[in-house]
Amino acid sequence: MDDRRRVMTDGGVLIEGSRIAKVGKLSEVKDWPEAEFELDADGMVILPGLIDTHVHLAQALLRGCADDTSLIEWLQKFVWPLQGNFEGEDGKVSAELCMLEMIKSGTTTFLESLLHSRYGFDGIAESVQRAGMRGILSKTVMGLPGYGNQSSIMHPGMVEDPETCLREVESHFKKWDGRADGRIRVWYGARSLGGCTPELYRRIGEGARRLGTGVTMHLGEVQEDLRYVQREFRKLPGEFVDEVGLLDSRVVFAHGVWLTEKEWHILAKKAASVAHCPSSNMKLASGIAPVVEMARSGVNVGLGCDGGPSNNCYDMIREMKAASLLQKARLLDPLVADAESVVEMATINGAKALGMQNEIGSIEVGKKADLILVAMKKPHLIPVFNPVSHLVYAAEGSDVDTVIIDGKIVMRNRIVKTLDEHTVLDNATDRGARLLKRTGIAIQPKWNLL
Ligand SMILES: [Zn+2]
Repeated sequence: MDDRRRVMTDGGVLIEGSRIAKVGKLSEVKDWPEAEFELDADGMVILPGLIDTHVHLAQALLRGCADDTSLIEWLQKFVWPLQGNFEGEDGKVSAELCMLEMIKSGTTTFLESLLHSRYGFDGIAESVQRAGMRGILSKTVMGLPGYGNQSSIMHPGMVEDPETCLREVESHFKKWDGRADGRIRVWYGARSLGGCTPELYRRIGEGARRLGTGVTMHLGEVQEDLRYVQREFRKLPGEFVDEVGLLDSRVVFAHGVWLTEKEWHILAKKAASVAHCPSSNMKLASGIAPVVEMARSGVNVGLGCDGGPSNNCYDMIREMKAASLLQKARLLDPLVADAESVVEMATINGAKALGMQNEIGSIEVGKKADLILVAMKKPHLIPVFNPVSHLVYAAEGSDVDTVIIDGKIVMRNRIVKTLDEHTVLDNATDRGARLLKRTGIAIQPKWNLL
């Protein structure tokens, strides 16, 4: 992945500090006099780290807690009550589980979209610092405890006061934005339509412009979004967010399933990006985002795994395959969403969405050394005629062997160096069970669990 989309055989990358110093044939890069050590990538593909543009860190602990239901019931009956019962280190433990999974499947940068105060922002930010990942943490801003036309449906534990939310974004921004050698950024996480007044959306946009930061928000995820703004404001969702000024700052909209051609043009004109989450949209039966047409209209489309109860995993390699196959089946056209364009979605388009295209998203001299090595000597990946095809159609997250972020080795031979895997898994098992018990939600498998 570079500006010429070259796929180099027998290639090598020289890293100096946190940046890429040289890219070329191994013979040109190897034996660089100053090189301190060498990582053998024989039989592997070197890729830019994957960029997940829509993640809920606090939902890893809710994995498999709300299957086979649609979005609003999913939120009201399961996700909100569970997240509304988070206490102590639940948020931090969930974030560490999520990051462990992301690292082990090749994600190096993520955009977390809605952090409630009760998850413990500082604890999560400290974990991102320790895990060695690059992450944007968006603090939730909300004003109304509803979703779309359905008011007051939010669990009391999830309700936050708008003034406190706005104040907290600023204090988190001052404390954390640019920390961990610039790996941590802080954005506004605006609640979905029905969760904020137009005035509050305006204040979010103003705040983002004043701080020079970004905003992320779920938009047009389900048909209810559309019905709500049409009824309340006689507008389409994309027109509404434009009118309240959210498009005048850097903004990433998750999903965009129900946005129309008119709205794609508005988003494209204002350089807003969409985080496409195909697995989540399929599982919650929200619909299929027309991302092929959206991209043709000039909208930058990245890829996202969403969350533990909607996907139910944070594996961008699996997500690439879902993204590709879904568009082909929808349009009855095997030519659309080809492997190359989907790898772009997961790398350089993600970087553009986050405003980091000059720093990450490709393997080019001067960019940050965020790289992954994917092992190809495996039964499901041999023979290799076109590595790009294998990455999308045949590989899986567990084929990622090595992860380098900001020039530091975060995983080698599938051993994560920054987080203790056993401790993270034990803590999550324990915290997950206690959370369910405290919330009073019993997961009833349809088949007898003996
Ligand atoms: Zn989401």
